[in-house]
Amino acid sequence: MSVSTLNVTIRQTENSRIHPLEKDKLVFGKEYSDHMLVCDYVDGAWQTPEIIPYGDFSLSPATSFMHYGQAIFEGVKAYRQPDGSVAIFRPIDNWKRMNVSAHRMGMPDIPEEIFMEGLRQLIELDAAWVPNDAETSLYIRPFMIAMDEFIGVRSSETYRFAIITSPAGAYYNKPVRIYVQDKYVRAAKGGIGYTKAAGNYGASMLPAAEVKKMGYDQNLWTDAVENKYVQEIGTMNVFFIVDGVALTPDLNSGTILAGVTRDSIITLLKENGIPVEERPISIDELIAAQKDGRLQEAFGSGTAASMSFIADLTYKEETLHLPDVNTWIISPKIKKQLDEIRYGHVADNHGWRFKV
Ligand SMILES: *Cc1c(COP(=O)(O)O)cnc(C)c1O
Repeated sequence: MSVSTLNVTIRQTENSRIHPLEKDKLVFGKEYSDHMLVCDYVDGAWQTPEIIPYGDFSLSPATSFMHYGQAIFEGVKAYRQPDGSVAIFRPIDNWKRMNVSAHRMGMPDIPEEIFMEGLRQLIELDAAWVPNDAETSLYIRPFMIAMDEFIGVRSSETYRFAIITSPAGAYYNKPVRIYVQDKYVRAAKGGIGYTKAAGNYGASMLPAAEVKKMGYDQNLWTDAVENKYVQEIGTMNVFFIVDGVALTPDLNSGTILAGVTRDSIITLLKENGIPVEERPISIDELIAAQKDGRLQEAFGSGTAASMSFIADLTYKEETLHLPDVNTWIISPKIKKQLDEIRYGHVADNHGWRFKV
């Protein structure tokens, strides 16, 4: 039912791999749907997008992104609605953010039509891959890579934009144990912290592995200057409820990724009458609040895990425990409201559901 004039070439698979998508057997990121979208940027122009059977790329070992890291991505989810249709959650915001990342990485903008209409047609074709069970979804991964076969150091002249999708089961949301990282940093002012660039992830693997070994689930990153102001947890934005007020780091330093989930949660918190303060938050402020019993709830937010509640925070030698998650009031309520919007159980008053 497209009103778009975008020309998309579609070549359907003759060997569909579709099968019953059992909630408990879906391993995140292990299995991909039948089709993918591929669109190349050549001679300064985006070519006709193609939806083709999911499969390997054949690439020269000199392909630029493999060496110099001009590589960016997005994370989006599609949800099965009560009437059997499929809705994607706020994809226009992912399109906008992808272009923020593209700009910073010296890569070309992706036209809205290619991203949005290409995505819509891909999900429409692979709608059977959107699982039905509660808490499941179809994870969508748009990405762009630099394609020049050239190992001289300069910005590539050719690029590939692609979208792959993967059915996702329920995320096991056990409260997480957090290590306040004061040795490694994720992002510095003037850097690429506000982009979804592959390199940010590459640099986080070692610190993540080190804290895992120490028994923690994630790092709470601190700022690069003083290691004092909290930034994000792992690859999620972070919120603290202190004295009934929601605190989250502001985006002004350019070191924090502007999460779509973060923005949705801020909107819902305000609608629920919870004051929200976006500002620098020091670890000392959080320690003081915890000591006085004013640190009530804390969580990470992102598309993959939705909201991930925090059990405790370890800073240097000291572990600060949050109250038992079962006593929390605000975060579970917001999480429930967010899910109701995503899964179509309530009216979409914000225009967040994009119907496929
Ligand atoms: C993707 C991401 C987030 C979460 O963004 P959402 O749009 O909510 O999924 C937060 N922090 C980092 C570093 C990320 O890469």
